[in-house]
Amino acid sequence: TEACLAAIEGAGALNAFVHHTPEIARDQAKAADARLAAGEAPALCGIPLGIKDLFCTKGVPSQAASNILEGFRPEYESTVTARLFGAGAVMLGKLNMDEFAMGSSNETSCYGNAVNPWKVDDRQLTPGGSSGGSAAAVAADLCLAATGTDTGGSIRQPAAFTGIVGIKPTYGRVSRWGIVAFASSLDQAGPMTKTVRDAAIMLGTMAGPDTRDSTCADLPVPDFEAALTGDIRGRKIGIPREYRMEGMPAEIEKLWSDGAAMLKDAGAEIVDISLPHTKYALPAYYVVAPAEASSNLARYDGVRYGHRARLGQGDGITEMYEKTRAEGFGKEVQRRVMVGTYVLSAGFYDAYYNRARKVRALIKRDFELAFADGIDAILTPATPSSAFGLGEMADADPVAMYLNDVFTVTVNLAGLPGIAVPTGLDGRGLPLGLQLIGRPWEEGELLNHAYVLE
Ligand code: GLN
Repeated sequence: TEACLAAIEGAGALNAFVHHTPEIARDQAKAADARLAAGEAPALCGIPLGIKDLFCTKGVPSQAASNILEGFRPEYESTVTARLFGAGAVMLGKLNMDEFAMGSSNETSCYGNAVNPWKVDDRQLTPGGSSGGSAAAVAADLCLAATGTDTGGSIRQPAAFTGIVGIKPTYGRVSRWGIVAFASSLDQAGPMTKTVRDAAIMLGTMAGPDTRDSTCADLPVPDFEAALTGDIRGRKIGIPREYRMEGMPAEIEKLWSDGAAMLKDAGAEIVDISLPHTKYALPAYYVVAPAEASSNLARYDGVRYGHRARLGQGDGITEMYEKTRAEGFGKEVQRRVMVGTYVLSAGFYDAYYNRARKVRALIKRDFELAFADGIDAILTPATPSSAFGLGEMADADPVAMYLNDVFTVTVNLAGLPGIAVPTGLDGRGLPLGLQLIGRPWEEGELLNHAYVLE
């Protein structure tokens, strides 16, 4: 814990931590020492973690990197963080992210962007998003692991951009209670770690039934670490042809085929498969996610939480809402609220929202058919490129930024578990990751496949 606190002090330029909690960390570390001395050895005893700012942590600022939650200190602890601390983990502080987890570069944060510890020619790169602070902190050894959340790729894309492991569990595996909601039918929390084994251990602590989240499944949590046997003989790995996008860089193609070769060497069978509705995933996601976000963000009205605008003479409640939300939400969040409100409006609901829901069902069925055909895991690239430069995409057309999610959003739409594993470097020496997608509730199997690739 002391080593991490010192490393954080020296790494301010990465802007990974946005709230520091050294007193809490030292208290928790002492308590962990006492538990060890008493002969207890909980799974994460004394392990220093960073917590994404999207998680409510009792008494500690939890702002989802938004000005609208200025000054908000929750009176309760999220289920995930409560479980981590219960297992002996230590909280070093809260981590930077895109505002309300909307973004792929950590550049929509009210705290300014986090910085990727990897560099090319001294050019600053994004750690990815939205869990960019989590990824930067783990990659730069500021903490041993971090929590992340993933609605459309926010664990897997930053993991790939920083050379770490990130798993998005099956929808319903981890409780969303106490995690600021973005798109409730897609959001899942997961660990971001240095190794697959760490991910298995940490997920084991985070997962499990919770009566406070009705979408959290009432299923026992298997021993994920015990699943890491490295034995994948006879497993069938699907390579979906629709993910071979036009203009895909040769080095991503190579990474992908090298990954398939590694799995084959370990005794798996590589099968060409089709997921025909893949090309509709990104448009469907960018209807469903903003629709749910516009509804979830309605609660930030200047009354219940955080920031309230200064009002002028004669301003009434409507002006109060308008001014508060105009000041409190950043540009990308406002764009999502507007898109979401539009696609849910009476005149356009069928054309957009209902259509996107139907497409979502087809995407889910594509995966179900592949798994029914005996496929055990699906291998794809995690991202279409390695980390890009800060500022490079943020000022461009927002759709260019959305294209970062092309390989990851299908997994959220289908509710499946997906993991990003670092498997190589590009021509400039930057990390690249592959994604494995598994059957629902089979995170153990998925982690074991990733273990072979690591
Ligand atoms: N980049 C995607 C978005 O902006 C995914 C974000 C996430 O997974 N939270 O919506």
